[in-house]
Amino acid sequence: MRRRIIAGNWKMFNNISESQNLVSKLVSGLNNQNLIREVIICPPFTSLSEISNLLKGTKIELGAQNMHFEEKGAFTGEISNDMLKSVGCKYVILGHSERRTIFGESDELINKKIKKALYSDLTPIFCIGESLVQRENGTTKEVIERQVLEGIKDLNEEDVNKIIIAYEPIWAIGTGKTASPQQAQEVHKFIRSILKDTFSEATSENIPILYGGSVKPNNAEDLLAKEDIDGALVGGACLEAESFISIIKA
Ligand code: PEP
Repeated sequence: MRRRIIAGNWKMFNNISESQNLVSKLVSGLNNQNLIREVIICPPFTSLSEISNLLKGTKIELGAQNMHFEEKGAFTGEISNDMLKSVGCKYVILGHSERRTIFGESDELINKKIKKALYSDLTPIFCIGESLVQRENGTTKEVIERQVLEGIKDLNEEDVNKIIIAYEPIWAIGTGKTASPQQAQEVHKFIRSILKDTFSEATSENIPILYGGSVKPNNAEDLLAKEDIDGALVGGACLEAESFISIIKA
């Protein structure tokens, strides 16, 4: 059975005390229960070290929101794989649409980051998704195929199997407009078909594909019930312990 995962992307929210507060509410709310889903939180860099300590002994895993592809060097403002690992990160979100659209990250750059993350035993949560214009002009599949194939370019099958994919239609991120479970399922199934054609049926069946884009407590259950939706990448709704917990339990 494929892994079931709920990941929270905190984006640029929460200073240290706000982070501590949210994490302690999450930890006590989940109370180390045996959940059917793995839980990952991705706070801003400044909170990672502190949160890593707070998560010790809990079932919540830690991830970062971005990473540079070089090991070290004169890259002002950037963060390396080793830095993330040294504060206890196991995951890193790469290719988020906000990185692609606001900061101009290309498929090629994202591919370099994915390779670096895998090389250093960090699991990439590799985000892909079409814009509203692309959906409306009927190029969703073309865009998704390009993003997937460019993102995993030159990876062998063993490495590809270590990745988590997140399908996040840009028009649904932070807009309150969710893809319908059917729309999301259709793209997830398409992503699996790309993986099958490129690698094998086993690989296409093994890789977890999360849905992201205005996932809330009131729509999580229907989305997560779909055959090819293995979890969610949650933005806004992960900033409140109560709503994130109810998505985890949906
Ligand atoms: C995200 O940031 O990855 C995201 C899906 O945000 P939201 O849930 O707010 O749409």
